[in-house]
Amino acid sequence: MHIDISCSIMCNSEMLPDRCAIIHNKRRCSNPPEFVVSVTSDNDEYMVGVTCATHRDDVSKKVTYLQLHNKIPKGVIKFVKLHPVGTDCIRADPDDRIQLDPFK
Ligand SMILES: [Zn+2]
Repeated sequence: MHIDISCSIMCNSEMLPDRCAIIHNKRRCSNPPEFVVSVTSDNDEYMVGVTCATHRDDVSKKVTYLQLHNKIPKGVIKFVKLHPVGTDCIRADPDDRIQLDPFK
């Protein structure tokens, strides 16, 4: 398997990584994360990592693989879409903001 995930189970209080956790052919994916991946087992929820939309299926397969090998808890894999990062926190005047977001 050429795909790997850079992070293992993370504590909820940790900051989210700013990039997709997938490592493909030893190169870290440079896409921003779009989903938080977690595993729900019994009453506990374990955060496994983050992924971009492109690698969602790869992460799903990899998590299943890791579960089979008891690297992470067995349970239901859940993808939660991240909200666009920090738009409420940007303190800039409107002109700067247009530059930050070319799609508007
Ligand atoms: Zn990715």
